[in-house]
Amino acid sequence: MQNKMHPSVIIRMINETPSSKHLELEINSSLQKTYTAAGQWIQAGLAETKPAIFALSGEPSHKKWSILVKNTSPLTQKITQLKEGDSLLISEAQGKGFKMTETIGKHIFLFAAGSGIAPIRAALLWMCKRRSQFEAITLYYGARNPNEFAYQREFDDWKKKKIKIIQTISNTTRKDWNSPVGYVQKLIPHDEIDSAHTTVLICGMPSMIREVTSALRQKGIAKENILTNF
Ligand SMILES: Cc1cc2nc3c(=O)[nH]c(=O)nc-3n(C[C@H](O)[C@H](O)[C@H](O)COP(=O)(O)OP(=O)(O)OC[C@H]3O[C@@H](n4cnc5c(N)ncnc54)[C@H](O)[C@@H]3O)c2cc1C
Repeated sequence: MQNKMHPSVIIRMINETPSSKHLELEINSSLQKTYTAAGQWIQAGLAETKPAIFALSGEPSHKKWSILVKNTSPLTQKITQLKEGDSLLISEAQGKGFKMTETIGKHIFLFAAGSGIAPIRAALLWMCKRRSQFEAITLYYGARNPNEFAYQREFDDWKKKKIKIIQTISNTTRKDWNSPVGYVQKLIPHDEIDSAHTTVLICGMPSMIREVTSALRQKGIAKENILTNF
């Protein structure tokens, strides 16, 4: 069944990477009530086109919604060319999101590839708000090139909240990168993991989710401690 779409004004647009933008959207209180857990997504589009899915990237209690739009399709190209003050059509928040209550009190690993950072950022901001309730939090984040990490502008704030950020790029030819190279699953610590007290949140393309999950299972992390949002 087609979702009811609501007009929403874009109040802020920020270039995150050469191909993606962060959009902040004005929403009414009845829409806001539908966003209850980090990891939920919305459908967003324009009047004449079929909508696409975008994970909400802001903290659920925030009074504005935000999404990260990468221009990979005719629709997302049109959306990224909009200006502040223009409108988008959006659905209410959908999906169950991550089971955030299961993360409390644990060591947290967050794994994101590409635009998968959007819902991971939502979870991370939710955890930052309750930072004292968590043990160590580590973000493992993969992109193709150094300038393709969305939300780099927030990394210093996240680090101040004691979030450890480990980045990797998959373009092996870059000479200007002194950090890890390869896929995020290569970053899984070689040391023993306290698997009973560790919860993992993952978002990326299906192959990435499969491969990260399999590597974590080999490290002894139980299925129920590996959370995805869809
Ligand atoms: C529920 C849902 C929500 C979505 N939300 C959004 C959204 O909020 N914004 C949006 O723009 N799109 C969204 N999409 C679309 C979709 O997630 C992305 O277009 C798609 O995942 C490609 O990601 P990318 O282009 O950002 O990654 P890329 O830039 O192509 O890749 C990111 C990194 O992952 C690496 N990689 C490739 N394969 C693997 C692997 N097997 N293991 C590990 N790393 C690998 C790449 O080399 C690269 O370094 C959503 C889709 C769904 C179903």
